[in-house]
Amino acid sequence: MSRSKQRCFYCGHELLAAHLQRPRSKTRDHVYPKARGGGRGTVKACRLCNQAKGDLTMAEFRVKAVEGAMFYGEGGEEWET
Ligand SMILES: [Zn+2]
Repeated sequence: MSRSKQRCFYCGHELLAAHLQRPRSKTRDHVYPKARGGGRGTVKACRLCNQAKGDLTMAEFRVKAVEGAMFYGEGGEEWET
């Protein structure tokens, strides 16, 4: 088994073990939130992104992230596409 590092689907940050309970610990995020009709897909994401995303869909979250520069502070660096 390879031990390649896992990265957050949204921010690309390296994921830490889930049991560490850190902002960058691994979680599973529902691509389509249950509150919005649910969906089958989940992605690996850090806790920070998972919490920030909440009930938004992926597309909505990306817009919010770009407009609010939520992770990168003032100015807001470009969101990698
Ligand atoms: Zn993340």
